[in-house]
Amino acid sequence: MPVLTHKLATAFPVAPSRGALRPLALSEVRIESGFWADMQDLNASAIIGHCEAWMEKVGWIGNFDAAVEGRLPADRRGREFSDSDVYKLLEAMAWEVGRTQDEQLEARLRALVARVGAAQETDGYLNTRFGRPGQGARYSDLQWGHELYCYGHLLQAAVARGRTAGDDALVTIARRAADHLCEVFGVGGIESICGHPEVEMALVEFGRYTGESRYVDQARLFIDRRGHGLLGDIELGPSYYQDETPVRDAEVLRGHAVRAVYLAAGAVDLGVEDDDAGLIDAVSTQLARTVARRTYITGGMGAHHEGESFGSDFELPSDRAYSETCAGIGSIMLNYRLLLATGEERYADMIERTLYNVVATSPAADGRAFYYTNTLHQRVPGSTPSTEEPSPRASSSLRAPWFDVSCCPTNVARTLATLGSYFATSTSNGLQLHQYAAGEVSAALDGGPIAVRVETNYPSDGEIRMVVTETLDTEWDLSLRVPAWATTGAQLRVGGESREVAPGTVLTRQVFTIGDEITLVLPVAARWTTPDPRIDALRGQRAVERGPVVLCLESTDVPFAGSVDNLRVTGELNDVDGVVTIDVRGIMAPDHAWPYGMDTPEMSSETQSVQLLPYYSWANRGPSSMRVWLPTEGDAVAV
Ligand SMILES: [Zn+2]
Repeated sequence: MPVLTHKLATAFPVAPSRGALRPLALSEVRIESGFWADMQDLNASAIIGHCEAWMEKVGWIGNFDAAVEGRLPADRRGREFSDSDVYKLLEAMAWEVGRTQDEQLEARLRALVARVGAAQETDGYLNTRFGRPGQGARYSDLQWGHELYCYGHLLQAAVARGRTAGDDALVTIARRAADHLCEVFGVGGIESICGHPEVEMALVEFGRYTGESRYVDQARLFIDRRGHGLLGDIELGPSYYQDETPVRDAEVLRGHAVRAVYLAAGAVDLGVEDDDAGLIDAVSTQLARTVARRTYITGGMGAHHEGESFGSDFELPSDRAYSETCAGIGSIMLNYRLLLATGEERYADMIERTLYNVVATSPAADGRAFYYTNTLHQRVPGSTPSTEEPSPRASSSLRAPWFDVSCCPTNVARTLATLGSYFATSTSNGLQLHQYAAGEVSAALDGGPIAVRVETNYPSDGEIRMVVTETLDTEWDLSLRVPAWATTGAQLRVGGESREVAPGTVLTRQVFTIGDEITLVLPVAARWTTPDPRIDALRGQRAVERGPVVLCLESTDVPFAGSVDNLRVTGELNDVDGVVTIDVRGIMAPDHAWPYGMDTPEMSSETQSVQLLPYYSWANRGPSSMRVWLPTEGDAVAV
């Protein structure tokens, strides 16, 4: 692994002390128009305020007031981990204030921090669910209590605030909590771990922010302790919380998907700080197998509703996909850390796939309802959730405004607020663009500042034009990611010369002058995608992707068929300026008393053209049925 030692600046969501690539700060990657600019605007105008309003409404923010006023446990609202969503909201607010300098949001952030801080106890302990008369004792339920998980989100919020605004009240609260944590769980203290990983990566990042190694030391203790059965057995088995095998010895991500990817992200952080290539290699090997065998076409992770967990290799049923939004976000966090550590673009490929097809799918078009799970096949149109009450959780028929377990909306909010940093990186003498959006990217190379303007309508259009707006008088590298899906037809134009480029990194090294243009043209036209034949649930089916976007067929667009399940695709695929249509035929599937032992179903001789839509946009037109994977003609006969 090539190693650089960075001088850390501010406003990075992740700031490793070494690695192949350096992160860019939020201020260095400005997304100005297009798909992701619209999503960031939605976050600013709707999602963050929606999360804040709901947590006031359901009393999760009020829990902190109740703690101060001695009204706990009687007045406590929400699940044992509800504090964490207040912290994720604080993190989203902090990054957003850093990105936009929104003074009104800054005032709301400060007011919320004051309410949280007032509930902190004199020794640094902070949690509204434990430790008071009538509540469980502190750390009496490490399996399920989520106390350390909540601290993790508090520390990440403080890092966001510290890196965007400097040390303030939130950083002080987090420091006291982190010191308490090290005191209680350090060497000679409680020798255990939290059932839900999260505090590990937070402690490493807080150590990076404060420059204090004891927080990294505490993360190391937690990671090394895990996998030895300290949490005990449970009905779901200790693999549910990754406590059956040490991180270094595991072969694949397993158990609860969010816990698995958060733990893996923390292990990469620790591996980077410790310069421990073995630990980083172990996690990257686990992720590679997980991507190859346990990941949906959307980038979604988690095939079991039971335990919100990974299934076995190739167990990826569309209609039972759990694919929690948070697992997708955790996967992006993990892939970003490995991208920075190794420089390998396969991690940026996964980030792109997951951003467009999980993160962008979760929020409704108005930013006021969310998917928690992300099914790939909705058999029956869902019912509209209440706009007044939280959804019991996870129902995937239609997006819900809030959930009893509402980890996903705040996770979307903090991710969108930090989006720019996932898009580009730098090295001592180069700039790397990993994701494409119209805007401006700048970086401080060792030789001085450089900047590039990006002009594109990607992913609607495949042309991405980079114009150098600031440069050096010596040569430097501009690296562009050619996505793995662009197997043929990607073109690079430099100085009037055009050449075909293959997936991976395409690097241009020269003395650039202001106004120099480099154009990458990606073949975004719609294409058929076939699954690995070992994925039983997908046999006889194909999907359509357009650039990085997975498409789907929604019943709203096939009124003549009654259901998306009564159709077979014929192989015709048309893409006219992004309007993608396929030809389908209906199958005759009369009801039988026993659904086995039947003749091959008959198929209509008549074909009809139907339009496919981006999966991220489904269910924005009311209840519908939907399929990503489309049955082909193989199991039916034409009549
Ligand atoms: Zn979630």
